Formats: sequence, C-alpha cells, structure tokens
Amino acid sequence: MEGKALALLSGGLDSTLAVKMVRDMGLEVEAVHFTTPFCQCDKCSVDTTAERLDVKVHHVFLGEEFLAVVADPPHGRGSQMNVCIDCRILMLRKAKRLAEEIGAGFFVTGEVLGQRPMSQHGSAMRLIEREAGVESLVLRPLSGKLMKETRMEDEGIVDREKLLDISGRRRLPQFELAEKLGVYDYPCPSGGCLLTDPEFAARLRDYLDNDGTPTIETILLLKAGRHFRVGSTRIVVGRNEVENNILEGLARRGGTRMEVEGHNGPVTLVVGDGEDAIRKAAALTVRYSDAPRGEPVWVVVASGDQATRIQAEAIDEGELESIRIQKKGKK
Ligand code: SF4
Repeated sequence: MEGKALALLSGGLDSTLAVKMVRDMGLEVEAVHFTTPFCQCDKCSVDTTAERLDVKVHHVFLGEEFLAVVADPPHGRGSQMNVCIDCRILMLRKAKRLAEEIGAGFFVTGEVLGQRPMSQHGSAMRLIEREAGVESLVLRPLSGKLMKETRMEDEGIVDREKLLDISGRRRLPQFELAEKLGVYDYPCPSGGCLLTDPEFAARLRDYLDNDGTPTIETILLLKAGRHFRVGSTRIVVGRNEVENNILEGLARRGGTRMEVEGHNGPVTLVVGDGEDAIRKAAALTVRYSDAPRGEPVWVVVASGDQATRIQAEAIDEGELESIRIQKKGKK
C-alpha cells in the first residue's frame, strides 16, 4: 500500500487536528476539501488552514450529483434534511478517485466516534466505508484507538500507539489537543451545513414536496429571503439589500418581480402564478416596506419585459403566518 494519505479537510477543528497528527507522524499528506451547494464555509479559510499545515489542498464541488442524493437519500435523513451517510459515501467515493490520481493509498478524517448521531457511530462508519469501496482504509486519528485496526496499522504505516481515544460530543479533548499541538486557528467550526438548519430545512422540504429535485439555482433562491407558499406558488421576500439583489437577478431568469412604488422596501420574487398568490405577494411586499399602514399603495409587478401596477395594503399578520413556510412542528 502507498504510504501517502489523502485527508478530508473541512477546515473545522477536528479535521485540522487529524491532519496535524498524521503530519506529525511523518507521513505524506494531501488534502481534499469538499463543498456542496449547502456549505457555508469559506474556501479561503480552508486554504489558510492547509497552508499552515503545509499540505496541498484539492477543492471538489459536489453539485447536481449531491442534489439528487438530497432529493432521494438511500440511507435516509438526520434530524433535519441532512443526508450525512450518503454525503460521506459520495465524498469518500470521490476521494477514492482522487487518491488514485495522486498516488495516495489511504484516507484520513477528523471523525470522532459518537460525535454525530447519524454518521459517526461504528456501524454507520463501516457501512460508509463499504459502500464507498474504502473498507479498512480510513484512518480516524482522533478515535483510532477505540476502533478496529485499519490496514495502515496492520501494514506498519501507522503506529496505533500514536492514535487517540476521543469519543462523544464533548469538545474539551479536542480543545486540549489543539493547545498541545499548537493548532490555534480553526475558522470554520462545525455546523457549516445548511441541511442541518431547521429554517432552511423547512424550505427545502417544502420545495421537495411541491416541486421535485432542486437545481443549484433553486438552492440560491431557498437561501435568500422570507419564504411563503400560496397553493403551488412560492413567494420570496428579500430581507436586505444583498438578498434583494439576488432575487432581482433570479427574477431576470423567470418569475414575477414586485416592489412598492415610492417607498423603501424589499424585492419580492413570485415563482408560479394565480391571482390570489399575486395579490398576497403584493400585500407581503407592502408589509415589509416602509409604506404607511392602513392605506393602499402602488406595487410594481414585472414579468419579463411587461410591467404593471396594482394597489395593495399590508397583509394581515394572521394571514401572513398562515402562508409562511414553517419549521418542522410549527404548523
Ligand atoms: S452535515 Fe451536511 S455536509 Fe456534513 S455530512 Fe451531513 S449532509 Fe454532509
């Protein structure tokens, strides 16, 4: 077996520590950083981490392929819309291909036994390895002593004595290890995946239930604004200038765009149609604008090259809540 490792580096503390441990064992390491349309991590900070660790990092984006898994995950979902088992399988399959290209013989991850309920317990880890075709080839330096020996230990590439026995959800052992190894900066803490965010998960669930498999563009839409549904129509109201610009851009590719005339307010994007939906979307646009309450104002409604104006008053709060896309258990 090749003595070179390919490490899965998220930029968070655990994977940074795992790479540092393997580097300190004197092994050659390259890293791969996977991103998905749901990542909130900063690519640049991963580059900085890799530079500090003195490892080359490969960036791999999991796009449409990952979206298909999110729409229909063979191994189910976690507490929100996270598909951790299938996500790890996909990442390790891609890592396997990359390892072949760069001449790496095994993989390193920062996984900690028992840290995450869905994917980081013994049987899930074995299933993931098996399905990714990397059985016994994944070294988890933080928990290795608690796990079955890998081929790297059997073949004398890795000294089992240098592995640790960290387990569970407490973070203190990792903080102490960081101190000991001189790893002080870990800019991307865990929790960078929007699929675990209850509010985002609600929007995505609603999309999958009503519209099918999302595209990358859809994810951009789901990330922005406040979301409402009227029948088969989705209404998205911008919360700030950045989101207004995103909605503006998306509106150029389709949908109906709304804005209150003569007052500051959001850009609203309506995906779908129907008179009732348009009327409610206009009332929502007024509700989140600076327009005075209790009197009708003009709302500009544009679709493609066509623009018209309709009069609307701010939507009533009860009606607003009845069409808001809610987090699990809220409705
Ligand atoms: S939290 Fe998100 S990125 Fe992390 S393993 Fe689960 S699905 Fe994949």
